[in-house]
Amino acid sequence: MKRLATLAAIAAAVLFPFLVTSPYYLHLVVVIAIFSIVTMGLDIVFGYTGEVSLGHAALFGVGAYTAGVLAFQFGLGFWIAIPCAIVVALAFGALLALPALRVTGPYLAMVTLAFGTIVAILINEMTFLTNGPLGISLSKPLFADVREQLPFLEMSRPRLRDVEYYYVVMASFALVVLVINRLLASRFGRAFEALRDSPIASDCMGVSVYRHKVLAFVLSAGFAGFAGVLFAYSEQYIAPNNFSFELSIQFLLAVTMGGRKSRVGPVLGAAIVVYLPNLLADIGQFRAVAGSIAAVAVLSGGWRMIKLPEERLRTLVPVLLCLGFFVFSLLLEKITDYKLTVFGLMILFMVYYLPEGIWGFVRTGLAGFVSAPAPIAARGDDANVWSATAPRVAEGRALLEVKHITMQFGGLKALDNIDLTVMPGTIHGLIGPNGSGKSTMMNVLTGIYTPTAGAVAFEGQDIQGQTPSAIAGAGIARTFQNVQLFGELSLLQNIMVGLNHFYRGGVADVALATPRARREEAAARLRAASLLRFVGLEALAHEEARNLPYGKQRLLEIARALALDPKLLLLDEPAAGLTAPDIKELIAIIHKIRDHGITLILIEHHMDVVMTLSDTVTVLDFGQKIAEGKPAEVQADAKVIAAYLGGSHAEAA
Ligand code: ADP
Ligand code: MG
Repeated sequence: MKRLATLAAIAAAVLFPFLVTSPYYLHLVVVIAIFSIVTMGLDIVFGYTGEVSLGHAALFGVGAYTAGVLAFQFGLGFWIAIPCAIVVALAFGALLALPALRVTGPYLAMVTLAFGTIVAILINEMTFLTNGPLGISLSKPLFADVREQLPFLEMSRPRLRDVEYYYVVMASFALVVLVINRLLASRFGRAFEALRDSPIASDCMGVSVYRHKVLAFVLSAGFAGFAGVLFAYSEQYIAPNNFSFELSIQFLLAVTMGGRKSRVGPVLGAAIVVYLPNLLADIGQFRAVAGSIAAVAVLSGGWRMIKLPEERLRTLVPVLLCLGFFVFSLLLEKITDYKLTVFGLMILFMVYYLPEGIWGFVRTGLAGFVSAPAPIAARGDDANVWSATAPRVAEGRALLEVKHITMQFGGLKALDNIDLTVMPGTIHGLIGPNGSGKSTMMNVLTGIYTPTAGAVAFEGQDIQGQTPSAIAGAGIARTFQNVQLFGELSLLQNIMVGLNHFYRGGVADVALATPRARREEAAARLRAASLLRFVGLEALAHEEARNLPYGKQRLLEIARALALDPKLLLLDEPAAGLTAPDIKELIAIIHKIRDHGITLILIEHHMDVVMTLSDTVTVLDFGQKIAEGKPAEVQADAKVIAAYLGGSHAEAA
């Protein structure tokens, strides 16, 4: 189905200049394709990582002006402009993203907003370079040099030039779609989605949120720069006001309206943004389009209502509104008076009724047509799960040594001068009443919190002060008390995020689909499938993680943590919310993990679980260590009984 649609689109694009001879429409399609390159790139940042950029028009302008300046000042042409503009845009992207994404919050939006303003002013003022407000003229490259009228299709020289350029833009567009598809299907795309769903879990899986956000933005800037060159040569004239702040807003609107996280959505959005001004100038056309939209809405909405009866009302409203819009278009006399109103109404409508954009809406209806992903053949034996077997650590030396850790939140000492030694190959229980500081300890160990005082050594190396992703890379994996899955990724993809460390190929490998990139992806898939099998979830491999029942989510989190090949695995209340049979399974899984040489720290409220599993138990109370020893000793400790097991147990004892 998908392949068929792609082939049809390619055929239509190839035949278009022969079917439609009007230069106006040829140019329109070219501009839509160019804008689509920007919006698809912007979608990586906005749709996937969830950051807002208000500077894409400026990056687009940087690309266009690189081409313009090269032609104007140095007489250099199209083919030189492309790599130069991409490099310049990538550099500007890095310049913006590196400082802005260090902190979370709306900083990228603010920085890119400032950038947009500065670029507009600089292009205007730096007359010696950019020719200022007068702009720069260029001329389209001509590839086939023919002197006469072409014998076929009666193509004149200017027409030939336009058609040639059309194919250049279309080929560029196809190339960009291919590269973006590959990137987003790779570990990079998974990382982009994962970090939006749960930044903490991403970092703790060794997928640095910061680095991947920067990467997403820089890539996106590169695409905008590329589109800029295409635009400069398509218009054959550029001026500063082509790249205003408004255009940045339009790019964002295009992605939102068309539908995030797809290729179709941003293209649809770009078509709307480019075409709407023309449409609003011509009432006849406007009616025709409003009519077709209404027809599509009725058809797809009807289908959706049959497929998803529980969403009947949510579907009906937008369909009715589309119909209403058509009626409104019939009543309108002079549409130009209502230009802004129509635009505003469309945006409101989108925000209220189509939060997933047009394509998001249509796609859910189409879900039945799209074939399910192919099942993966998981290797039956556990060998593949442990293929890289956790490197054994020298026996006799502590794997983890925590010294005098204090963690203060304002006046509260969540951890007060705690020492903790974990020997390799053991299961170390960490217990204590609610609020005693157990989870805080995990957050300190994994670098989420920087302790107020004290030191943490892992395999003799000081890890305190390192970033969570560096600590994960060193071999400490964890699960979370409040489950932190990547909700919109499938189970298989969740685990593959944990396998990020396993890849050697970079962005270029992925973009070119080198044998190494394919090999690594296939191996990672197989490994992930085996891990899923290990926790008994392989039947649900392609389900979205957020649809799993709670107990299964916890098991998935353990499998994902194991994907890191950790030496030390921290489990924060893994049995919470699990049913009795699930707990049994969990205990078996924990035993297996330990048998493979992985050391565990286990926080748990189910006493029976901790006591049967642990070699050593540490008890915290109000941030202080009140007891430590073998499970039996700890259980008999008067202080523990008093503080932790509560009055009734104390009496019973
Ligand atoms: P538990 O042993 O139940 O896992 P926690 O480690 O979650 O306990 O919490 C220990 C104490 O530290 C609690 O009083 C909690 O309110 C406090 N605390 C934990 N995280 C923070 C934070 N980020 N800011 C302020 N207080 C915190
Ligand atoms: Mg806790």
